[in-house]
Amino acid sequence: MRTAIMGAGLSGLCCAYILEKQGYHYDIYENRRCVGDRFVNGEIIMEILDRPIQDIFSLLSMEHGLYLKATNVINKIIIKSPKETVDVQAFIGYITTRGRHEHSLEKQISTNIKKRIIFNSDKSIDDLLYNYDKLVLATGDGSYSEKLQKYTTHLPVNLKGATLKGEFQPNTVCAWLNNTFAPQGYAYLIPFNAQEANVVIAYPNYEHNKKYNIDKLWDNFLNSFNFKFRITDGFQVTNYQIGIAEKCRVDNVLFTGNCFGSIMPFLGFGQGSAMLSGIYAGLDICGKTKYEKEIKKLRNSYYDSLALRHAMEKMNNDDYDKLLRILKTSLGKKVFTNKKLNFLKYAAKASKLLLDQNKTAQF
Ligand SMILES: Cc1cc2nc3c(=O)[nH]c(=O)nc-3n(C[C@H](O)[C@H](O)[C@H](O)COP(=O)(O)OP(=O)(O)OC[C@H]3O[C@@H](n4cnc5c(N)ncnc54)[C@H](O)[C@@H]3O)c2cc1C
Repeated sequence: MRTAIMGAGLSGLCCAYILEKQGYHYDIYENRRCVGDRFVNGEIIMEILDRPIQDIFSLLSMEHGLYLKATNVINKIIIKSPKETVDVQAFIGYITTRGRHEHSLEKQISTNIKKRIIFNSDKSIDDLLYNYDKLVLATGDGSYSEKLQKYTTHLPVNLKGATLKGEFQPNTVCAWLNNTFAPQGYAYLIPFNAQEANVVIAYPNYEHNKKYNIDKLWDNFLNSFNFKFRITDGFQVTNYQIGIAEKCRVDNVLFTGNCFGSIMPFLGFGQGSAMLSGIYAGLDICGKTKYEKEIKKLRNSYYDSLALRHAMEKMNNDDYDKLLRILKTSLGKKVFTNKKLNFLKYAAKASKLLLDQNKTAQF
């Protein structure tokens, strides 16, 4: 049986890794010149949002023999609202580097694969379906899924980011909940090391948010810093699609990563589920598991995360201050430290209840 993988990003490469390990024939096509051929940015994987999985890197190595190295462990998170600041010290998760950097996550996965990746590919879905028995769609872009099935976009996101030179704590990330910089979104700082960090604002590009000028929001954000920095690099992404496909398989096509719906809408995190979806798709092709069964957990997390996002979008800056006052309490901090608490599941339930109550009250 011949399998084609379209896209050599996180999910496509993980799928290739499994197929190769199991001795299955495959070809992997990438339309760019090399793996990770895009801007460099810092991304995070947060333990609190992945539960019951506590450490995705341990899971990948222990269960699948795939050893990857994070850029850094996060042992502190500082969250700021307009008037409040909370800091939590615990195992928060990992920082990863993406894109052209020599140790980016995608480059690390690719070093575990011997097969030559076919770069600069212009093959279409139809070309690959014609020549192969199975296709794994891993282009990181829901618009490809839309060509084959129903794909619902829940939010298009605008992002603007930069690399800063300055002084940073390599194990501390910072998040801002502040509608003045990121209406219905958030802003964050992820250090690459003690001298460089990635800062980003991200917000949904809904119709009612189109009145905002991203450069103005960006200036508001940078002007709020009380430390010295110099900008060395930057990027901007418009209308990054966060959505989910109705099915994870249509005939002989398996949808992985963002083509399936791996980005969790609450904060836009998708690396963990993208890698897992690629692994599950590979194991399905090798007859070792059923893709639908494995993907169900990721699909449930997607909808829990969406409920949380809907709740977040109702919050104004005063609400963010109130939320942080709760997080400041020892009970609030337990959300991060009590690893047994399935935060996403319970927070989603609470959000739905709250939103339903509000609807009834308005009625
Ligand atoms: C700015 C930004 C910040 C983010 N921050 C975080 C974060 O902090 N934490 C987190 O967990 N997630 C974050 N994400 C989301 C995360 O990066 C994605 O969910 C994840 O990379 C998706 O993996 P994937 O395999 O679906 O796609 P990708 O890893 O994007 O790979 C897709 C690959 O397919 C290739 N491709 C595209 N079209 C074709 C074609 N026609 N033929 C062949 N190849 C093709 C692309 O070039 C690419 O190499 C962020 C995303 C962005 C854009």
